[in-house]
Amino acid sequence: MYGESNINKNPDYIYSFLVRKVSFLSRAILREGEYEKSFIQSLSWLFTLASKFDINLNEAFYKKFPDSCPYCLKSPCECVQTHKQPAGNLAAYAARHELNEKFLSLQNNNTLSRRAIDKAVININDIYPSNGAVWKIFGSFYHFSRIFEELGETQEAYSAVIKNSGNVSNLAEEIADVAAWIFSAWGIKCQKRSLGDAFKDYYLDGCPVCKKNVCECDSYSARSESMATEKDLEQIKKQLNELSLLLDDKSAEISELVKSIEDAMQANTTLDAKRAVTQTDGFLKKTQSAIESGTTTVENTAKIATALTTIIAFIDKIKDGWLN
Ligand SMILES: [Zn+2]
Ligand SMILES: [Zn+2]
Repeated sequence: MYGESNINKNPDYIYSFLVRKVSFLSRAILREGEYEKSFIQSLSWLFTLASKFDINLNEAFYKKFPDSCPYCLKSPCECVQTHKQPAGNLAAYAARHELNEKFLSLQNNNTLSRRAIDKAVININDIYPSNGAVWKIFGSFYHFSRIFEELGETQEAYSAVIKNSGNVSNLAEEIADVAAWIFSAWGIKCQKRSLGDAFKDYYLDGCPVCKKNVCECDSYSARSESMATEKDLEQIKKQLNELSLLLDDKSAEISELVKSIEDAMQANTTLDAKRAVTQTDGFLKKTQSAIESGTTTVENTAKIATALTTIIAFIDKIKDGWLN
């Protein structure tokens, strides 16, 4: 779907979208937004980056995590007891040998080629059950700080490859680490849902933006998710004008809000849009609760209530995309 268009994209372009999507994933999880989509987009860019450097991520992942922790060699991980040393006081070279043997046996039995992505999700959380425990108690902060740390190391590693001062296997290891933390997050957050199915669902109709099976989108044409677009503001303005006809006694107040929305459209900055939309939201919610509590006597109460609910829901959706 994206192979052709990705040939012309440089690693920095791919990496910048990877970071964008992971940061949106982090936000979506914190704010209970649409995180499934963000998972798929983040992993898609990660896979693209791996492909760019001819890295087989399936192999890289199991080379780093051959069904055991690469430090203590155990599953579940016993690093807390061994202080990240191989269990049984194994020498470093022997530990490396053992990991490699585990990987080779997976590879030689053709186990790897048969393993679906969901197996990686299960495996990583079997090795590190503490990830889920930490998340449950402290939330997703620690988990995402580790993902961003690995992303930083990934940038360092691919820069070194480009500069010819680093090797691809080091980069493969870093990409495998990012994948591991994202797989783990999926397993914790979406326990009952197959990641493989989520991928198929997301790309069922081709590229979700251009709807083609071989993507024809231009560079930088990804949909914006955080900014209130001009279209959104136009829609709010239209709804406010309709509301003004129903709420005679508030028409002066509404007309001020409409002015602010128009001003924000002209200024064309996120900050101005946020200010105007937040103000509108406050007015709408205040009006809504006044009507619900019956402290105002207006005609067409039912009609007004419906109109208010519609605009508030629309604005809530826009606000979901904001970091605040
Ligand atoms: Zn360990
Ligand atoms: Zn497309």
